[in-house]
Amino acid sequence: MNTKATTQTEAKACACGTCHEAVSARALYRPGHDARHVSVLVQGLVNDIADGRKVTKQMIASTAEELPSEPLRAKFTRAADRMVAKATEPKPEPKAEVAQ
Ligand SMILES: [Zn+2]
Repeated sequence: MNTKATTQTEAKACACGTCHEAVSARALYRPGHDARHVSVLVQGLVNDIADGRKVTKQMIASTAEELPSEPLRAKFTRAADRMVAKATEPKPEPKAEVAQ
């Protein structure tokens, strides 16, 4: 469902959700704030993990829905996957003894 015909001329807030700066009606973000939005969402998942919640693929997918474009969703999903893998991987042991 694409509703493209929004002819708003009013300034609206940047979609990153953190800077609260106005952007022109045709833009979603201040320059560079699309990346900021991605990292804000990743940080949200980092906080979930820090709080002991489990971040599932499903959560990542539904969080990605908050982003307005497919490339951003892909970027977020990659970053989130990487972050979750890193945050949940077992601590690397100094030198694993390999029994031979
Ligand atoms: Zn912004």
